[in-house]
Amino acid sequence: MDYMNPLLPPTVRPIVRGWLNSNIVVLRELGDNVVIDSGYCTHREHTLELIAGPAGLEGEPLERLINTHCHSDHMGGNAAVASAHGCRITIPEGEVKHVRPWTPQSAWMALYDQRADPFHFDDTLRAGDAFEGGGFDWQVHAAPGHDMDALMFFEPRHRILISGDALWQNGMGFVWPDEGYNEHIAAARDALDAIEQLAPAVVIPGHGAPFSDVAGSLATARAKLDAFERDPVKNARHIVKVLFVFALLERQSMPVAEVAGYVDRVPGYRLMSDRFIGLAPAALAEWMLQDLERGGAVKISGGVVRPAMPA
Ligand SMILES: [Zn+2]
Repeated sequence: MDYMNPLLPPTVRPIVRGWLNSNIVVLRELGDNVVIDSGYCTHREHTLELIAGPAGLEGEPLERLINTHCHSDHMGGNAAVASAHGCRITIPEGEVKHVRPWTPQSAWMALYDQRADPFHFDDTLRAGDAFEGGGFDWQVHAAPGHDMDALMFFEPRHRILISGDALWQNGMGFVWPDEGYNEHIAAARDALDAIEQLAPAVVIPGHGAPFSDVAGSLATARAKLDAFERDPVKNARHIVKVLFVFALLERQSMPVAEVAGYVDRVPGYRLMSDRFIGLAPAALAEWMLQDLERGGAVKISGGVVRPAMPA
């Protein structure tokens, strides 16, 4: 999807995707083109088309790919982009421990049944660093919470923030639940405070369209964190639903009769249920499907569940 925002210079080009694939941001500068994030691995061909196409590089070569964080929906296309363009790959310094050596859990495969193509990275960024993209200097800031090692990128001249999953228009990436003090929620609050300090005019999030009502989005995100801190069970239920919709977006459909077996087989669901929710697989599946259908996230017909949103 081509997204033209009057607050963005023409060299800063968000390509808005869905909830399986992160957004891509193309920063155009001939001879020094940069792309932020690469989507999910099963959509790698489409990712390459979007990057090369009229909303992206328009056929120009790509010099560098930078990840906001190394989750499967943001780094899944790294290998394909590197092999198509021969570009440099840069990841947050804190993510190195997750992707080198590459293991199935690098893509959260073991715990959450997600995938990513293994890739080689060339260098790293950390908070306090800077890079050039689209003819501008971008500051690198810490964006912990959803991913404790995530980064976000800020361009001070136009006050553009590339926030990854630290802030979306109506929330943020899920944050790990805990009883009592929760370091993940505390970190997520710190990231929101840092965004408030930067005072961006426009935020390009990791998912969903760019937005300008940053104060409104910060208030929404903070209210969600408060609710999740008060009620870790609510948070765990939210995470189970997010994980399942993600799995469904990858598959596009699943027989309802197989859902209980799926949540029994993939350890992340049992972990959430054993620690917080307290439902056996069949009951967890039944509650989850009802809740997702009621909320409009999935459609169920003919004994098959399908996602109601774009991948
Ligand atoms: Zn994401």
